[in-house]
Formats: sequence, structure tokens, C-alpha cells
Amino acid sequence: MNFEVKNHHLYFDGCDTVALAQKYGTPLYVFSENAIVSECNQLKAAFTNRYPNTRVAYASKAFSTLAIYKIMAREGFCIDVVSGGELYTAIQADFPAEHIEFNGNNKSDEELSLALDYGVGRIIVDGLQEIERIQKLASEKQTTAKVLFRITPEVNVQTHSYISTGQKDSKFGIPLDEEILWPTIQKAIDASNIEFYGFHFHVGSQLKDNSAHLTAAKIALDLALEVRKRLNYTIKELNYGGGFGVKYLPDELRQPYEYFLTPLMELTESFCRKHDFPRPNIVIEPGRSIVAEAGISLHTIGEIKTLPGIRTYAAIDGGMTDNIRPGLYDATYTGVIANKADEAKTEKITISGKACESTDILVKDLAVPKVETGDIFATFTTGAYGYSMASNYNKLPIPAVVLVKDGQDALIVKRQSYEQMIQNELVPDFL
Ligand SMILES: *Cc1c(COP(=O)(O)O)cnc(C)c1O
Repeated sequence: MNFEVKNHHLYFDGCDTVALAQKYGTPLYVFSENAIVSECNQLKAAFTNRYPNTRVAYASKAFSTLAIYKIMAREGFCIDVVSGGELYTAIQADFPAEHIEFNGNNKSDEELSLALDYGVGRIIVDGLQEIERIQKLASEKQTTAKVLFRITPEVNVQTHSYISTGQKDSKFGIPLDEEILWPTIQKAIDASNIEFYGFHFHVGSQLKDNSAHLTAAKIALDLALEVRKRLNYTIKELNYGGGFGVKYLPDELRQPYEYFLTPLMELTESFCRKHDFPRPNIVIEPGRSIVAEAGISLHTIGEIKTLPGIRTYAAIDGGMTDNIRPGLYDATYTGVIANKADEAKTEKITISGKACESTDILVKDLAVPKVETGDIFATFTTGAYGYSMASNYNKLPIPAVVLVKDGQDALIVKRQSYEQMIQNELVPDFL
């Protein structure tokens, strides 16, 4: 795989992680290009190469940088963006406009304008007012917006409640409510500058069970049939969202893509055959599963504090500012001392961050070799929602990001400087 141990050091995609920490400093995010491409290849084998008229749109909120957009373009994937900032980054990476899908539950007119001017492939509409705003903007610009409706399929998923999105009481999507949904669909079909493509759902994230996707797909297909019956309109596309779970801990299950996609496609194709309905394009939007396991974080261990009879805390030079998931969702991680990667594990430590919050604990009770100040701690599976959720809390700079491949390394995001952190700050005259 992408990890090896040589001279006691952890290697990632052919690179010595201890040498990377020395060269670029810590905290540092490291992404393996081979690992990202391997995920893309698995998705191609399980989905796009197997079924015609299918697309993968990488949900780039998981990790949005110029370099990842370049990789996705090269792999022939589409991307999903959820803000003007992500869209701007994609435009700066020359990402093909027609392969961009724009999601979000509160897109501003500025964001929609940017999307229409660039000519994005799809806008995924989250509400009735948005349809009216898109129609107005698109007609001013004399263009046509290709839209899908994000529906709220009213399914409950087995994941942390903070990352479940498809339940009935959700801020996301258009409710399956007679009085709300049907007039909205009618409006989209009638609007002169809107081409109505179909429906979208995203039920939640880090899912290990395929039942929520299947239930939601059945609802979307029933809806497509109902649109044909009631409005004599045949939709062209369904987007089944992302949410495929990854492995954070060694004993955790990682379901292969086929586990989700084979039954989803069987359900879709048999439904379409049965109802003599032309099988719509099927799009999926994985974010986490493409980048999570392809990324690790490197930190330097500083203060080591032993509370006799309780535990030993080893503090790292980052924490919730570069990985908020433990504090935000009780997410669990594991890691190794990268410079002692094959030494016998003789102690138990808790890795704490340096932010002024008690929830800033990265890993609890981890078995490690004897730990010393200056050791490098490598946390696994931090490629998704780590860098993209990083903050300047406590005025810690956003770490650098390095891309590695077959022993080569390249900086893809420079470390933020103190000067950059305050460059937009002003002192008013009256102070
Ligand atoms: C976050 C999100 C995704 C991706 O979810 P993952 O769990 O990272 O795969 C896909 N679609 C939408 C609309 C999202 O909000």
C-alpha cells in the first residue's frame, strides 16, 4: 500500500514523513497522489466504466485546492462546489465549466452570477426562492441554467446526527410536500431560462450501510415517474449524493464502492425497465471517500505531562485548528510516532492539541513506544474535512499542504504566515 516503514521511519507514497516534517515544518498535511488516483480508479471500475451515462462529481468541500481540482480534471471527474470561494478556486484551476455542479442551501446572487457567467454544468437548487432568483439572473444574462432539485427524502441514517442531512427536519433540500414541491417543479419546467434536469439527494456522510441510499433512490425514482404522470415531463438526471464511509481506525469496516453502487444501479435499472422509463443519467458526489485515507497530518510533540495514576498527555503543535472533527463530531483517529514507527509499543498516551479548549483532544489512550519531545506524530485518514475546516483559532496559522508521489514531494499550499493572518486587519483612527 502507500505506507511502509524504513529505518524506523513511516514512509507515505515513497516519502519519509520525518524528512517531510523537517523540510516543511509542522503541522503539515501530506496527501498521496497515488492514493487519490487509486480511489478514482475504484470509482471508475465500480461505476462510470461499468454503467453508461454516469458521472462522479467529487464533493470538493472535503478538500478544495488548485492541485486537487487539477487532479480531478485529469481523472475526468466532475466536481461539486458549494460556495463562490470553491467555485473561484476551481475557475483559477481552469476546471472545465460544464463539469462543475453547484450545491448549497443559500447561494447568494453574487455566487449564482459567478456560476452562470462561468457556465457551470449544473446548479442544484435547494428552495423555491432560489428558482426565482436563478430565472431572473439567467434571463438578464440571456443564458440557460441547467438545474436539479435537491429533495429531502425523509430518511434517517446511521451516522452522527451532525452529519445526517436527509431527515424530514433538515435545513437542506426541498421538502416532499404537496404544496411546496409541485408548484416548484412546475415553475422550473415553465421558466424560460431554466432547463429542469431532475432530482438530487444527499442523505448524510460517513455511512457504512447502503439502506439510506436505496430508500432515497426509490423515492427519487417514484418522484420522476410522478412528474411524468402529472406534468408529462421526463427528467434526464438523478444525483444520488455522496456519503460513502471510510476507515479511520484499523478495525473499522470500509465498504467497497460496489456495496453501495451495485444495488443502487440494480434498483434504478429495474425500476426504469418496469415502468418503461428511460434510465436517467446517474451522478454520485463522493467527497470524503476520495481524499480521507489519501491524507495524513504530521505534528511535532512538545510538552509531555504525566498525571500519576490518570494518564499521560502528549501535546502537539496543532490540534482542533487543523482537525476539528474530534471536537465537532467525536470523531476518532489513530496514528503513530513517525520516527519510531516499528518500535515496540510500551506506553499509552493521549494526544492533545494546543488550542484553549478541553475538547481539543486528537487521540485518546493510544499505545505508543516511549514518547519524547521532538517526536513526529502522524495521524492517519485526515485528508477529508481537515484542511478544509482549518481555522485561525488562537491565531494559529493554517498549516502547509504537501503532495507526494512515488518518493517525490511538492508543496501545494504554503504555510500561512503571521503577516498573512493580520493582513486584512485595520486600526480605526479613533483608537
Ligand atoms: C458533503 C456533501 C457531499 C459529500 O459527502 P461525503 O460524505 O464527503 O462523501 C455530497 N453532496 C453534498 C450535497 C454534500 O453536501
